[in-house]
This record gives sequence, structure tokens and C-alpha cells, in this order.
Amino acid sequence: MCPETTIVVDNVTKTFGHITALKDVSFTVQQGDIFGFLGPNGSGKSTLIRVLCGMLKLNGGRASVLGFDCERETEQVKRRIGYMPQRFALYPDLTVRENMELYGSLYGLKRDELRTRIEKVGSWLELLQYSRQLSGTLSGGWKQRLSLACSLLHDPQVIFLDEPTSGVDPVARAELWTILLELAAQGKTLFITTHYMDEAGRCNRLGYVYFSRLLALGTAEELTHLPVVTPPDTRWIEFVYPSAAQELSFLLKLPHVRKGTVFGNNAHLLVDANTERVELEHIFSKAAGTPINVMDARATLEDVFVALTKERDSGV
Ligand code: ADP
Ligand code: MG
Repeated sequence: MCPETTIVVDNVTKTFGHITALKDVSFTVQQGDIFGFLGPNGSGKSTLIRVLCGMLKLNGGRASVLGFDCERETEQVKRRIGYMPQRFALYPDLTVRENMELYGSLYGLKRDELRTRIEKVGSWLELLQYSRQLSGTLSGGWKQRLSLACSLLHDPQVIFLDEPTSGVDPVARAELWTILLELAAQGKTLFITTHYMDEAGRCNRLGYVYFSRLLALGTAEELTHLPVVTPPDTRWIEFVYPSAAQELSFLLKLPHVRKGTVFGNNAHLLVDANTERVELEHIFSKAAGTPINVMDARATLEDVFVALTKERDSGV
């Protein structure tokens, strides 16, 4: 079965006065995708989400969701999408249930349907136990869960989540992702922004935007093989190295090493492709004063975004 194109972003430009928030951005998202939209703060991520939710007028290009134009057919778009904004937009003085009732009715749900959907979504997200609690007193993770529940009440086909896990503890983050993966398994399309690389790795396609321009688009696998990340004459390796963090700058000066970073006690380096493993092991073992086993590795998403950003900043 061929997946359908759900989101079309076609040469979108959006300015606010003299600020260009999006410049000629184009890509598509297919049904069932978990599309990760990444980039530094101020790069235009939230702006694009607001464009796609039918909340902003464009200065150029066009955008559509499920075949409906985001500028001209905003009502059709809004009925079919869920939007979880970057900042907690619920009413802290209302209870969990009251917030769901309010949002459900804003989405046009009638009484009986609203009750059924609150039961269904509330029990799925385990929110019913907090029905009578004031929303403002929930922890960060539960606030986000309630925010997600409110965006799901009208059973949207496409869900936009703007940094849904920022400021949320790791356990709550993992739980929220379990829910997101279930939504994707139901065939919903998810469009998500995040600064967490582990979350980026869970998305099946990624876009990287850097100060209004889309710099890269593809699967994590495709991005790690971009020439700017892994030049053709190089490869990535990893090895356990004593005091790796303290000795990174020393490691970076060793022969055949182009660049690298450290994860815990692991040195993660880009080296000349034509250098044999034994030669590398000899160099690193001598440097460490202890035997080193070199393993093949691949670029991380962090390597990808650092390389893309540096390339852009150097004006290449
Ligand atoms: P991100 O979500 O990637 O952090 P945003 O989309 O929020 O970025 O912002 C992109 C740029 O547009 C920033 O320079 C921001 O200050 C500007 N911007 C966003 N919304 C508005 C607005 N309503 N009025 C003026 N400038 C805005
Ligand atoms: Mg934002």
C-alpha cells in the first residue's frame, strides 16, 4: 500500500516585520510518519507548525494538510488536526476534566460524544484518576499528558506537537513516547519538534531547519551518510578510552583523526577511511598506555546537526 501525502509544504516563506521566520521551505510528510522537525531556538519550527494549523498567513508559497489549504480552508484543516502548543495552554484553575470538556467543546464535540471521548482518551492516557485535580497542580509530565489528551479528543488524523517533552522528566518522557508510538501505529501522522537527540532518533523522517531555512531532510540513516557529516574519505569509529572526556583534545591531535566527541568513556571519532584498524589501535593504545579495541561506528544525529550547522555558519 502506498502511503498518502498528508502534509505539503511548498516554498513557504513567512515574515514578521523585518524578521524572516521561514524562507522557501519545502517538503512533504506521508500518512503514518513520525516527522521530526529540528533546529535551534528561533529557527522557525513553531512558526511552521502554526502555519500548518491554519493560524498564520503566508508571505510566499503554500501549505496543505490532508489536501486542505492551510490559509484558505482553515476550518477543514482545524477539524482534522490536533495541536499541542509549545507552552502549556490549559487553564490551571480548571480541573483535568473541566479542561478536557472545554477543549472538546471548542473542537465542536456534542455532549454525549464529548463524554465518550473523555472516557476513552482519559482512560487510555490514565488521566481519569486526576479528573478532579486542578490542572495547575499537576507535574510537568502530567500537564503534557493532559495537553495531549485535549488535542486528541476530536480524534484528529494529524497531530502537531511542539516540544511536547521539554522540561519533562525522563520517565514521563518515555511514557509520552509510548503513547506517540501507539498513535502512529493507529495510522495517525505525527509532526513533532524536539531538542532531544534520542527523540529525533525515534522519528522515521527528519527535517533540520536553521534560521528559517531547511538544511536537510531524510531518514536518520540518510542524514548520517550526508557527505558533510561523513566525507567519502572518512569513517566513524568508537572505543573505550580511560579519561576520555579529559583527553579529548589530545585524541583529536593524534594522526588520522579528523574530529570527534566523547560519550561517557567512549571516544567517538571521525578518522581517515583508508587507515587500518590495527594501525589505529596501535596509535590509541600507545596514547592510552593500555590496549584499545577500535570498533566501527556511525555518525550520531548530534554529529549530523553539528556538521550541518558548522557548514552553514562557514557560508559554504
Ligand atoms: P522556533 O520555534 O524554532 O524556536 P519560532 O518559529 O518561534 O522559532 O520563531 C522564528 C523567528 O520568528 C524568531 O526570530 C521569532 O522571534 C520570530 N517570531 C515568531 N513569532 C513571531 C511573532 N508573532 N511576531 C514577531 N516575530 C515572531
Ligand atoms: Mg518553538
